[in-house]
Order: sequence, then C-alpha cells, then structure tokens
Amino acid sequence: MSSLLKQRLEGLKVSDIMIQADKVAHVQIGNPLEHALLVLVESGYSSVPVLDLDFKYKGTIAKTPILKSVMGIERFEMERLSELKVEAVMHKDQPTIQPETDFLTAIKVVIDHAFACVVDEENFFVGILTRRAILKEVNKSLYIDQS
Ligand code: AMP
Repeated sequence: MSSLLKQRLEGLKVSDIMIQADKVAHVQIGNPLEHALLVLVESGYSSVPVLDLDFKYKGTIAKTPILKSVMGIERFEMERLSELKVEAVMHKDQPTIQPETDFLTAIKVVIDHAFACVVDEENFFVGILTRRAILKEVNKSLYIDQS
C-alpha cells in the first residue's frame, strides 16, 4: 500500500464512516421470532443487531437460524415463530468495535462479518460499520492517491 493511501486510511475512525444507530434496523432480545423475521424480510437485510430495552448491544440475528429453528421433519412449523424468542437463536459471539477504533483495525473485523456493531464503553449501541462503507473509503482513497 502506498504511504499516502495508508496515511489517509489510518487517519479514519469508525465514527467517520459508520451508519448511525437511528438509521439501523434492529430487533429487541425479547421479541418473538415472528417479529424478527418480519424486520429481516421487510428491510431486505440478512442479519440485524439485537438490542435490549435500554439500547444495549446483545448480539445479531439472521434469517437462516430463524428458519432452521422452526424446521420440522417434513415442513416449516411456522406457528412456532410466535412462541420462540430472539434470544433463543441470536448470535452472541460477533466481535464489536468502538467509535474511536481506527480504520485499519476495523477492516480486520469485517473480513469475517458483513457488518460490525459499534458500541460505546458501556456497551450502548451506537451504530454499525458495513463492508460497503469500508470498500467505499478504500475506493475513494485509491483515486485520491492517483491524482
Ligand atoms: P452492506 O455492506 O451495505 O451490504 O451491508 C452489510 C450488512 O450490514 C447487510 O447485509 C445487513 O445485514 C447490515 N446492514 C446494512 N445496513 C443496515 C441498516 N441500515 N440496518 C440494519 N442492518 C444493516
């Protein structure tokens, strides 16, 4: 990587390029799976953050584990979607990042995940960093570097 490109990317922080919490679709930990599936299908996202009532980060939830949880032997038992809660199928181990995390560290997190949740020091949810945002910055920097 040229030093100019590296210098520009090193100067960026997660807070400069993240999607703010108020623009992020999310579900609450106590919601039934039916609600979570509705949010996922309506938003078109395959995965969204899970928060508690205080807006603290708890995990993420995706379509596939929801559908797997109601998969019977011969059919999807969709009636179970209203009985099961988000907490039962959410993903709890996804790494989080902070608003002040530097860009080059954040890149490593989104290698394995389509987005990373951004939390403050008390674990309150403040937004997400997507692969798209990262790629946009890299692309921008490549062109600046050439001029
Ligand atoms: P992208 O890099 O834009 O394709 O986004 C990667 C992933 O981040 C998407 O597949 C969603 O799971 C999540 N995502 C992106 N934007 C939002 C949003 N506004 N609300 C909730 N999740 C989002």
